[in-house]
Amino acid sequence: MSLGDIVSLGGRVPTPPEVATLRLTVAGSAAAWSREPGHASSSYLLELGRRAIVLDLGQGAFSALSAFRDPARLDAVLVSHLHPDHCIDLVPLRHYLRFGCIPARSLMLHAPADLPARIDALTGQPDFLGELVGPPLEGGDFEVAGFAVAVAPVLHVGPSYAFRVAPAASPDAPGLVYSGDVGRVEDVLPLIREGDTLLIEASFADGPIEEGPNHLNAQEAARAAVEGRASRLILTHILDGYDRTAALEAARRVFPGESLLAEPGLRVEF
Ligand SMILES: [Zn+2]
Repeated sequence: MSLGDIVSLGGRVPTPPEVATLRLTVAGSAAAWSREPGHASSSYLLELGRRAIVLDLGQGAFSALSAFRDPARLDAVLVSHLHPDHCIDLVPLRHYLRFGCIPARSLMLHAPADLPARIDALTGQPDFLGELVGPPLEGGDFEVAGFAVAVAPVLHVGPSYAFRVAPAASPDAPGLVYSGDVGRVEDVLPLIREGDTLLIEASFADGPIEEGPNHLNAQEAARAAVEGRASRLILTHILDGYDRTAALEAARRVFPGESLLAEPGLRVEF
C-alpha cells in the first residue's frame, strides 16, 4: 500500500489521479426533491492537482459523489446555506469518516455558523460533526487546499452564501462562481470575473419567478452571466417537474456564450 492510501471498510482506496487544471464534476443538481432515481441534490466536486473540495452536499450526494471520488479524499466541504438539499448528506459523510475509514479521518468544513447546532438537534447528539472542523463561513476571501475562495452573502434564507473558486496559485485565472440558492442576481455579480464559468440556480426554469422563496429562473440566471461577462453558464437546481430543456433554451436566448445544464456526471475543465 502506498503512502497516503487509506483503508475503508470496503477495502483499500487508491490515491486519485492528479488533475492538471481546475475541474468541476456535478455529483447532484436536483433542488428540494427529485423523483428521478439517482438524481441527488446540490453537490459539486472541484478538483485541482491531487486536491479536491466539494460545494454543498444535499440528499443523495454522498453516494453520488462516491462514484467520482472517495469522499475521504476530499480536503474540504463548503456549504452555501442550511437547507437540507444543500447539506443533509454531511450526516452519512460523518458516519463514513468516523466508522468507515481506518484510521478515522477529518475534513475541513466551511459552513454557516449555525450548521453544527442544526445537525446536533437533528441527530440528538452533541458535536455530531466532530470529524468536520473549520471556521464559520462569512463573507470575504480565504484559501483552502490550494483553492482560492471568495464568499459573498446572498438573499435566500438566513445566512446564505455564493462562492467563487479558482486555483490559489492563479486566482485571476478563469474560475467557477456558484450561486448557491439566491433570489437576487445582484448579490452574485460582485463575485463574477470576466471569463468565469457561472454555475447558477434556475429553480423556476423558464417560468415566472414566484414571490417568497427567493429563487431565480433561467432568464435571470442568464442575465447574471451577461452582466458578469461570464464565458460559460451552467443552470442548476431546477425544480422537479419543471422543463429543463425549456430552461436551457430560455437562457440561450439571453446569454450568447456556452450554456449547459448541470446534469449529474457533467464534467467541465477550466
Ligand atoms: Zn435553499
